[in-house]
Amino acid sequence: MRLISTLEELQSITSSRGHRTGLGGVLIPTMGALHAGHAALIKYGSLLARKSNSPCLVSIFINPTQFNEKADFDRYPRTLDADMTICQDAGADFIFAPSTEAMYPDPSAAPIPPLPAVATTPNLEDGFRSGHFAGVCQVVLRLFSLLSPDAAVFGEKDWQQLQVITAMAKQAHLPIDIIPHPTLRDPDGLAMSSRNRFLSDEERRAALAIPHALKSAANHSKSEAAESAMLALLSASGLEVDYAVIRDAKTLGANSPGKPGRALIAARSGKTRLIDNTPWPA
Ligand code: AMP
Repeated sequence: MRLISTLEELQSITSSRGHRTGLGGVLIPTMGALHAGHAALIKYGSLLARKSNSPCLVSIFINPTQFNEKADFDRYPRTLDADMTICQDAGADFIFAPSTEAMYPDPSAAPIPPLPAVATTPNLEDGFRSGHFAGVCQVVLRLFSLLSPDAAVFGEKDWQQLQVITAMAKQAHLPIDIIPHPTLRDPDGLAMSSRNRFLSDEERRAALAIPHALKSAANHSKSEAAESAMLALLSASGLEVDYAVIRDAKTLGANSPGKPGRALIAARSGKTRLIDNTPWPA
């Protein structure tokens, strides 16, 4: 496994492998602070890459343009040494961990693409994290243009993000397969997240209301009843809820009977904002 930190290193490896741009292969974009959920994506990416005899690439970049609170960006965990061990064990061939200057040398190098409707209209993450998806699309497009992967793996944990990237790739006719991977959970049911380390024992216990609420939604066949059941459980645990809704799984607009739906929650336990989702009906 090789760590690439600069565009010059990337360029020299790219040309030594006979490519004009990028490395091809399967990319797993991350912000580091890797856990077993990320490792599962990397293992899957590595398996896919082996099949096509191409490399598995993990990018590690804490993208400032997708944070809407500077304090959140500042306190985001930075754990490159531990991340490298996880990448190595999971079968990555390259880690691309550039500086902010390399990613954003000037605005023309990293344009913000036109955002698909699923990034701007559902009033989910778009409604609570202003500018977030503009930053996400910007960094993903920049990574795609530098690395030219054949495929990229994204977690279902960030369901709206997965739909946004899928729609963006389709809209821009990018020749890159966007591949989803299911959410990994701790044994108590809490979805793994780099932010879980900020939870006190008490906050973590309260946060378990999130997977419980998603499960309780499955007991209701009407979306209004499922939403009320989720809200009741989340509020009873003292979580501050941004949303707890049933939506169309793809457009994230209103759910229609007979079409795949998704239960989605964003809530704060203490100061830590957590998101999770599950298919609905289960
Ligand atoms: P992040 O570093 O949080 O930006 O996440 C990098 C990728 O890992 C994204 O595609 C996430 O959706 C995915 N991911 C994060 N947590 C999990 C999890 N618990 N299970 C599966 N994928 C995850």
